[in-house]
Amino acid sequence: MRIGMGYDMHRLVTGRRLILGGVEIPFEKGLLGHSDADVLTHAICDALLGAAGLGDIGCHFPDTDPAWAGIESLKLLDQVREMIRADWVIANIDATVMAEAPKINPFREAMVSHLAAVLRLNPVQINVKATTLEGLGAVGRGEGIAAQCIVLLRNAAASS
Ligand code: MG
Repeated sequence: MRIGMGYDMHRLVTGRRLILGGVEIPFEKGLLGHSDADVLTHAICDALLGAAGLGDIGCHFPDTDPAWAGIESLKLLDQVREMIRADWVIANIDATVMAEAPKINPFREAMVSHLAAVLRLNPVQINVKATTLEGLGAVGRGEGIAAQCIVLLRNAAASS
């Protein structure tokens, strides 16, 4: 078994859609980034890559590469799944979205179902939590949204 963690933060700006866990959330601002800036999905990608010992999302999908411009981050997650699937089976994923606004809770179930579909998991293997930062720091001031994720991988040979 291997454990991995991921962390990401993106800046909130006007004129961008807000995508979290592949779900578009109605809000006056969206996250700025080279891709769709889905901070939750990026944290999950990094946790999976970390657990598998495969570096990080920036190594595989550099933001200098036009191929990834505006890409849906669920597609990056699908590629990460392809990278690890020969050797690893995902046991569970636990993630936390840190956002002062908007409210994340109403969208959690949809996020889990999008993520589970891409990763070919049962939704019970994925947990998405949300918290504000009580007005503290950049996230607390509403300047950005952050996400953290931890995953557990089982060796595919041992699981079959
Ligand atoms: Mg990112």
